[in-house]
This record gives sequence, structure tokens and C-alpha cells, in this order.
Amino acid sequence: MRKNISGNNIRDEFIEFFIEKGHTFVPSSSLVPGGDQTLLFTNAGMVQFKDVFLGTDNRPYKRAVNSQKCMRVSGKHNDLDDVGRDDYHHTFFEMLGNWSFGDYYKKEAVSWAWEILTEVWGIEKSKIWVTCFKDEKGEIPTDDEAAENWKKQPGINPNHIIYFGRKDNFWEMAETGPCGPCSEIHIDRGEEYCDKRDDPNHHCHVNGDCRRFLELWNLVFIQYNRMGPNELEQLPACHVDTGMGFDRIVSVLQNVDSNYRTDLLLPLMDVVMEISGQTEEEREKYFTPYRVIADHCRAASFLIADGVVPGNVGRNYICRMIIRRAARFGSKIGLDEPFLGEVAQKVIEIYGKAYPELVKNQKTIINNLTREEKKFKSTVDVGLSILETYIKSLVEGGKKELRGDLAFDLYATHGLPLEITKDVLEENELDVDQKGFYDSMEEHRLNSGAGKEFGPLGGEDAEFYTKIASNLIQEKLMDKEGVTANPYSSFVITTEVLSIIKDGAQVSHIQKGDEAEIVTRDTNFYMESGGQVSDTGLIKTENGENIFIVRDVKKPAPGIIIHIGEMKAGKLQVGYTAIVEVDKKRRQDIMRNHTATHLLQAKLREILGEHVRQAGSLVTPDRLRFDFTHPDAVTTIQLEEIEKQVNNAILDNLIINVSHKKLDQALNEGATALFGEKYGEDVRTITIGEGTPYSYELCGGTHVSETSEIGTFIIASEGSAAAGIRRIEAVTGRKAYEIIQRRLTNIKKTAYELDCSIDDLYLSVNKLLIENESLSDRVAEMSKEKAIISYQKAKDAIIKVDEISILKMQFIDLSIKIMRELADEFRKDFSDGIAIFSNKVKNNKIQLIVAVSDALTKKGFHAGEIARNIAKDIGGSGGGRPQLAQAGGKDSEKLDEVLDNLDRYIKTK
Ligand SMILES: [Zn+2]
Ligand SMILES: [Zn+2]
Repeated sequence: MRKNISGNNIRDEFIEFFIEKGHTFVPSSSLVPGGDQTLLFTNAGMVQFKDVFLGTDNRPYKRAVNSQKCMRVSGKHNDLDDVGRDDYHHTFFEMLGNWSFGDYYKKEAVSWAWEILTEVWGIEKSKIWVTCFKDEKGEIPTDDEAAENWKKQPGINPNHIIYFGRKDNFWEMAETGPCGPCSEIHIDRGEEYCDKRDDPNHHCHVNGDCRRFLELWNLVFIQYNRMGPNELEQLPACHVDTGMGFDRIVSVLQNVDSNYRTDLLLPLMDVVMEISGQTEEEREKYFTPYRVIADHCRAASFLIADGVVPGNVGRNYICRMIIRRAARFGSKIGLDEPFLGEVAQKVIEIYGKAYPELVKNQKTIINNLTREEKKFKSTVDVGLSILETYIKSLVEGGKKELRGDLAFDLYATHGLPLEITKDVLEENELDVDQKGFYDSMEEHRLNSGAGKEFGPLGGEDAEFYTKIASNLIQEKLMDKEGVTANPYSSFVITTEVLSIIKDGAQVSHIQKGDEAEIVTRDTNFYMESGGQVSDTGLIKTENGENIFIVRDVKKPAPGIIIHIGEMKAGKLQVGYTAIVEVDKKRRQDIMRNHTATHLLQAKLREILGEHVRQAGSLVTPDRLRFDFTHPDAVTTIQLEEIEKQVNNAILDNLIINVSHKKLDQALNEGATALFGEKYGEDVRTITIGEGTPYSYELCGGTHVSETSEIGTFIIASEGSAAAGIRRIEAVTGRKAYEIIQRRLTNIKKTAYELDCSIDDLYLSVNKLLIENESLSDRVAEMSKEKAIISYQKAKDAIIKVDEISILKMQFIDLSIKIMRELADEFRKDFSDGIAIFSNKVKNNKIQLIVAVSDALTKKGFHAGEIARNIAKDIGGSGGGRPQLAQAGGKDSEKLDEVLDNLDRYIKTK
């Protein structure tokens, strides 16, 4: 075996080996899957190629090689528990793979795998075992083709080629869809690696579930399309999809017994050791915390680099949870100050060359980690001490499981993620009711009105439309690429009606009132994409008598675009010459907002920092909405500055340039690309401004040609969109003018009423407020004087019931503060009294203050109790201390009666 080969070299050699065999290197896609709403994280190399296998997309290459970033931690089903507790589970990992899309097949895949493992990396041939597929049910053919190919490899031991069934050697994407047999390559690391030698039932062999035989590489041969549980259809083209766990191959080639002892992860643990001041022996003793920290810190760094910052839901929650889990394991080895930033520094050093996004986002990564550690430290103590009391009472009560709602409360109130609660409980040999936790969470989510994280996928009848497209192409009515779409040139084009769909079926014509979908040979309508909404408009005949209103445009299958809407006048028939007209005013509004969005993004990055990334965008005719990563609220001063600078850019009348180029070139030139978005080889770029561009983005949207067309830009709102994500809404052009005009009218009216000029308005209003305040003070003073006078009078006329002085006074619109003062006064004046001050305020509502002298409280009279009793009868609520209490109610008519009853209450005492 090759000696002293670094992890980074192993990755490079794999990629170079396959490039030499005619493969195109495809960079890893983001950990946040682009366009796949069903998936929390990219969890396998094939995620970015899924649509190629499903036949809904194709690529300019037929052979690809990649090293894909993957994450496997999600919600209820994860093996996070194992991460850190053993040597081979990870949250984040890399997957090396080579791919054939309808190109080479088993022969090449097998011999190249053999070549790189044995020739390039020098793994001893006698230690390699391979498995091939043989159906235990006998329904799917045995994969002898793979086995035959393996037998031909030089130096292979034919006895090491063995068969396994569906569980190990048949791969399926889902219940239906592409699938096929696979062939796994295992390495025998020697008897000493078996960790189950003491288990009498252990049979030490490949797939025997011990550490002696390691699965290195899985070669999947996609050759079927599964139509149903018992129905497989041969695919017209066969594909190869392989996956090799990077950490594992590195551990084998570096001849270490743990993934954590490779030169990828050990240096991270060295940093931890240095910070903690522990010795190597101590590290061996506390290996679990070290592993957890190394794994989680690596994962969090990659997540943050991909725009996933710590937060409360979905992906952001995962990021928060792993940082907090790492921080807690850190405190187990005495690390109580933030330390993950230093570990992340090492992550970036090791991985930065292969994944430049880490270097680019270095500051963001470290800041986020440190901030989250601090946040956790400030809340964790309370949460953990509450958990301690729970544990104590569980143990005392002889119970084994913590209630789910308590675990949820620990999370919701004290920031303790379920995973950490579970860790702590497990350390005490206890468990948690996870279902109860998720039920509570669901209840909380519904109560708080939060929506579902991930919506369902849209389901158009793709097959139906695919058939229409292929018929039109066969009849040569349509170009073989399908409908020609060009939303960039003209608002009006002349073309031909190729197909009309009504009620899910093709029809020859439609008439007034019919809802339908129309396919034309060409279209100039923009179809919703990149946040920009679809165009609306109309399709009409040349004489203008037949009009179809278009509400929406969609692409239900490759090659076909439908205009959805209603026949407004006349009739339309397949074969007619049609004029397709985009609603120009609306589209111009959209273009203004789209170009303004680019200006906004550029200014946000300039003013708030380079960490700002687009997290979502909506461009409609009325407004633009832009979501971006930023940890704090944007201040008013920053917002004013952003608005001003965008308007300056508009006034500079910058030219917008559109060009088409290769993705690599655009990215090298520094074009802003959207996170998690899949781009083809050829991209469209939008540049604003000449020379050093003001903004340079990959974008397929429609734009104005000069910024002055935008008119004016006004920020309408700024707020939180999700954890760590801010949202700005803004308007331009006609909408901005509308707002300005409306506000100006209001200002003018106000100035007119105040009899001042607009420029003096602020001063005039201020003066008015001051006057108002002093008037209010005067009124308060006067009503207080009046109240005191009435109190003096009432005091002199007080009556006694059973030796108790009882005072009942009613006021109108008196402040509660003054009533309290009277109550204090009363308690000074009478050592044996009870007073009730009631006050009618607007809407017939009543406020009450009850005061009881100290001597009487000792005899069992309680102001709070009296207040509560009265409140009950006047339809309200009340309570307070024995000496002083307050109540409120709404049945003011009942008040007299209730107060009369008070004497009875006193007598019963
Ligand atoms: Zn074994
Ligand atoms: Zn754009």
C-alpha cells in the first residue's frame, strides 16, 4: 500500500484518475439541495444528478466525477446518537463518485475501480472482496455480468466474488423509478480488527457487521425502471452511479483504526487538546467528546459556508443543535469559554482548497459559531439544572422515561435541543418520550400559526404533456427542442396555435367562456423562475376579434409551454395564426423591480457585509421581496443608507448588460450565483454598470436596459423572515410614486390643518404635543384636587357597620393612580376600615380599588378576596394583596347592588 498519502491527495487522485478516463469534474453541489423540496440536506452524491436519471434533464457530459458534500442528520430518523460514540459515524461526510449517464457500463466501472484501488493506491489484491446481486426471491435476474467482469481483473481471488440479495445489493431510488443491482467492494482488514470476537453468534465474514470487513465502495448499475412492486422495465440507457465514503478510504489508506485518526479529523482534535490543556492519555480517555467536537464542528462549518446559520426550524435548527451539542461535550472536558471558532479555523485550513466556500466565509463561520456558543452558555445552565431535577424525580419515582412535553419545554424555553436532553438522560441510563416531544412541538407549531417547513411537490400530468410535445415534434410543427421561448426581445410576436387543451384533453377549438391551455410554436412570455413571476397578457387573432386572456404560463413537461387562461371573445382554433402579446405595463413594472433587486443585493453586501447572501427572492409587478442571511435586524440608519445608495445608482443611469458565457468563466469573474441553485454549463449573466460592474449576477430574469427606468426605489419594510434571515420589501417606479404621492397628500392636509408650511410641520406638531402634555397634566391635577375634596367630605360622613368604617366612593374617568393615592390616604386615616373606590371609564367599564386597614387584615379581611368577589358579580376579574387590591369589570349597572352586598360580607366575617 502507498505510504504517507494525505487525505487531500486521495481526493485529488480519485478525481484526476477519472478525468483521465474521460470524466468531467463536477463540483459538489450545496448541502442545501437546489430545487428538491423533499430533502432537508443533500445526503448522497446522486442528489444533484437525480433529474438526469429520471430523464427530466440532461447534461453536456456523459461521464462525471465528483466529491459531494453530504449531511445525514434529520428529525426523527437519524443516527446522531452514534456520532462521536464510535469511530465511523458522521453527520457530515464526503462521497467520492464516478458517473456514467447512458455511456460506459459494468465492464469499465469494475475495471477502473480495481485499477485505482490496487494499482494507484496499492491495496493488496488478496484483501479485496466483492459482492454481486442474486435475488433471494428469484424474480430479478442474477447479476452474472458484474461477476464475470470481476473475474477478469488481474490478481483477484475468484473465491472473493460472492453473491448477496436485495437488502445489500439492489439499489432503488424510491418505490418507483430507476433502480438496479449493485456491486460492493469490501476490504478485509485482518482478524485483529474484528470487534465481535467475543460474540458466540458472530460469523466473521463480509456483511457480518463487524469492523474487520469494511465496505469501501458501492458501484450501482442502474438498468431498470420500477413501475410497481412486481414490475421492472428495462431502461433504454444504462447508468453507473458509484459512491465511496471518503473518510473511510482515507482511514484505510492511512492505515488507522478510526476515521477520527486520519489527517482530516485528528488535527481538529489536536486543536481541542491544545485549548483544553489535556494530555494525549486524557484525550484517549475522553475520546467521545473529542470525536463529537471534531465531527460537529466540521459539519457546522460546512453548513454555515452554505448559508445555513443557527436557528429554530428545519436546517437552521440542525445547525444550532450540532453547535450546542459540541459545546456541551466541550464543557465535559472543561471547555467553558467559546472554542469552536479555533477548531473551525483548522477545518478551513484542511478543507479550504477543495471547498473554497469555507475560505470565502471564514469570518461568517467563526462569528456564527462563537455567537451560538455564547447564546447557549447563557441559557444552558438553567436548562440543565431543571433537567437535573427531572432526573432526580425520575430516579426517585423509579421511572425510566422523561415526558415529551417536559423535554419540549426545555427546548422551547431554555434552548436545550432534544438531542442534548437525550444525551444527558442516556448518561443517567434514562430515556425520553420522543413521540411526546414531537407531538408537543407540533401542537406548539399549530398554536403559533407556523406553516409546514416543506410543502408537497407539484404534480402536473407530465406524461400527457410529453406525448403532446413528441407528437408536435414528429409532425414537424414544432422545433425538436420544443416550444421556442424568448421572453427577452419583444412584447408582441406572431406565431401559430399548435394545440389547445380543455378539461385535460386536446380539442380542436375553444369559444368564448372556455377555460383552456394553449400551446403556440413560440412564446415571448416569461415563465416564473428565479423569483420573478410569470407574465400575463393575451393571445389573439390578427383581426383582433378573437381574444384569449392569459393568466399564467407553465412548463408541465420538457419541450412544452402552456398559456393558461380563458377565451374572452370569439373563438380560437388549432392552426390559427396567433398574436401573442405580453401585458407590457405589468412586465415593465416587473423589470424595474428585478433590476432594483440586483442593486439592493449589491448595496446590502457593501453596507452590511459580504456574509449577506440571497436566501429567497420574489419579483412581482407590485413589489420586490428579498430575503438574505444576516444575524441582526437592519438598523434604521442602515436602511436609509441602503435606500439612498440604491437611488443614487438609479440616477447614475447605469447600463444593464446581458451576456451568455460558460459557468466557470462567470464564477471566476466573480459573478454572484444563487446558493443551492443548479446551473447548466452555459449561463446568462446580468451586469449593471460598465468598467468595474456595480452588480454582476447569474440571472435568467428580465431587466430594464438602463437603471434610470426604475424611477424611484423605496424600502417598504424590513423584518425577520426566519432564524438568521432578514426580509426587505421594496417598491419602485409607479408604485413608489403612488406611495410618495399618497404620503405627500397626507402631509399637505396636516400642514393645512395646523396652518403652517410643510417645512415647519415637524416643529408645529412638536409644539402641539408639548401643549397637549401640559394640558393633560393640568386636567389630572384638577381631577385630583376634586377627588380629594370629595374624599374629605365622604370621610366625614362615614358609616360604621359592626365597628368597621366602610367607605364607598364612585368616580368618573379618574386615573387609577389617584385612586391608589386615595386608598393610601384612607389606610392612614382609618385603622379599622374598608374602602372601595370605583371608577367608570369609557365603554361602561369599571375599575375598582379595594383598601383594608392593617388591623382588619389580621382579623381575616382580605382586599384581594373582596376585589375578586366583586369582580365576579360585575363580569370581570380582580385580586391583590390583603391590604390593597384591584379589579375591573363591565356590568356597571350591577355595581350599586354589588356594593350594597358588601355590608353583608362584612357581617358574615
Ligand atoms: Zn468479525
Ligand atoms: Zn436576477
